[in-house]
Amino acid sequence: MSLNSDTRSDWPSTGPKKNETGKHSGRVLLAVAAPGNRLRLMEILESHFTVQAVTDGSREMLEFDLAVVDIEGLQKWRAALVAAKRRGEPIFLPVMLVLGKDKLHHRIQQDSEVVDAFVITPTNTVELVERACILLRARRMALEQSDRLAYIINHDAVTGLANRPLFEDRLQIALAALSREDKKVFLAVIHVPMDMVMGSLGTLGLDAAARAFSSWLRSWLGDDIEPARLTTNDWGIIFRTGTSVESMMTQARKIHGLRDRTLHVGQEEIRLPPRVGIAIWPDDSEDVPGLIGAAMAAAGQANGTDGEPAFYSPSAQEKALWHIRTENELSKAVDDGELELWFQPKIRLADRVVIGAEALVRWRRPSGELVSPGEFIPVAEKSDLILKISRWVLDQAFRVLSNWRDWKPDFVMAINITPADVGMPDFIDRVDDLRIRYGVLPENLEFELTETMLCEVAKVVLERLRELRAKGGRIAVDDFGTGYSSLSYLQELPVDVLKIDKSFIDRIPDEHDGVGIVEAIISLAHHFHLGLVAEGVEYESQADFLQSRGVDNVQGYYFARPMPAAEFVRWMKW
Ligand code: C2E
Ligand code: CA
Ligand code: CA
Repeated sequence: MSLNSDTRSDWPSTGPKKNETGKHSGRVLLAVAAPGNRLRLMEILESHFTVQAVTDGSREMLEFDLAVVDIEGLQKWRAALVAAKRRGEPIFLPVMLVLGKDKLHHRIQQDSEVVDAFVITPTNTVELVERACILLRARRMALEQSDRLAYIINHDAVTGLANRPLFEDRLQIALAALSREDKKVFLAVIHVPMDMVMGSLGTLGLDAAARAFSSWLRSWLGDDIEPARLTTNDWGIIFRTGTSVESMMTQARKIHGLRDRTLHVGQEEIRLPPRVGIAIWPDDSEDVPGLIGAAMAAAGQANGTDGEPAFYSPSAQEKALWHIRTENELSKAVDDGELELWFQPKIRLADRVVIGAEALVRWRRPSGELVSPGEFIPVAEKSDLILKISRWVLDQAFRVLSNWRDWKPDFVMAINITPADVGMPDFIDRVDDLRIRYGVLPENLEFELTETMLCEVAKVVLERLRELRAKGGRIAVDDFGTGYSSLSYLQELPVDVLKIDKSFIDRIPDEHDGVGIVEAIISLAHHFHLGLVAEGVEYESQADFLQSRGVDNVQGYYFARPMPAAEFVRWMKW
């Protein structure tokens, strides 16, 4: 058996002395070996406290705030009790000995190392309970003091934020949890030239400015990220694990944005231009002090004028700058008409007739270079740009569709959308308006959302998709098989079509496992009465295989690549 006293989770540090069961708070451990005594003491204590008795067979770790022992119990469990007291040091963990008057003198001396108080048998109920209460109160005060002390030791006195030791602990814990996963952690140090304030406003001004900056920082970062104050001039933040470079950059740039604003400090308005430095674990350093040092060094390097965070490593800097540049240029690209919409035919396998097309966006830079959506859509998705692009795509796709319907009234246009688009309150109205304006029927429309996106969408988005579907538009699960979803969600999602991802089509008809996966997806679709499209069909053998297994439609280079609208029309021989 081992006794443990260092967990105090259920201990209310303030508030009423009694807990919700009407008992005094604090856990009492009964380590009484004589069965008769044990029964009697249990009876008395149980009606006032939460009690747990140690028995010979106890194996589990017992946590307590007061131990009540008899002489035999002390003999038996002395080592465990001493260990529990030691572990909890320097916080007082009381042990009360119950003993006959005749043993008093002798025992108390001998056991002073472990025993803090005693009660004489035969026990007086009131006395026993009162003594226990006093000891528990002493314990509670010791815990509260220790909590307060821990708080003082771990927090910056001026701003109340975590200080460097606590920040280091937190970082250590975050990294330890990750060491076996293939993830990165971003650490930012924000350097603020507080000495500027010190020079003009003095120490009090410095403290006020530190508080103003801290609360500004907290409100910018939201509840997810808690900043710490590392030195007078440096604040630190750990980005949540799994944060992408892009969203980390967005946050870091927001902080940099403070250079264009003023903070109110007392009667003054001051400018505190921050410099943000970023270090990446484990790339820049594998240990905590190294990582903080790297971020501090990076903050020192941050250019005070361009407003961009600095990375410790040049290659990370390069990547982040690429992202920022692309985002800036892309934002202009939409307004400057640099986007193009291309179309890839969808073929019905049964008769190899074109039944529709998928609209795929392209970006033609002024240099003539064509940028693939695989490169810029992920950048756009990290900001509101995706909404702008999708709006343009939707408009363009409807315009084209209205022409093509003249040739083929049941032509189906598949449009790629994201949950962010669907989440816009006016999404359904916009689609309705476009339909009416361009004389398009709901049957002419299919919306593609990737499996990963579909599995993570918010309720409101699901509702919108249901609405969209109720009006007749179809919804396809793009890249099906690549998400890590459970299959049971298929029943619940408002979807009509599965698009088997190219990575599986690549493995048919020759690879045994590939065949197995594709066949499984096909039977799944049949079971749930969903339509099927296979994408990335590059060979006749793939098309033949899919046809033999009952796949309705395909898309791929074997039939046609994506083409600009005019070329599509020529290709169709319309
Ligand atoms: P996706 O929706 O899975 O689109 C299919 C991609 O596979 C297209 O690449 C297409 O050109 C390519 N593909 C089709 N058949 C074959 C084939 O036989 N072999 C090979 N190797 N590739 C084939 P693309 O056009 O570069 O688009 C890439 C991704 O960009 C799309 O993947 C989609 O996720 C996204 N995207 C494209 N246009 C839009 C758009 O308008 N809005 C949104 N939100 N995303 C878009
Ligand atoms: Ca697609
Ligand atoms: Ca796809």
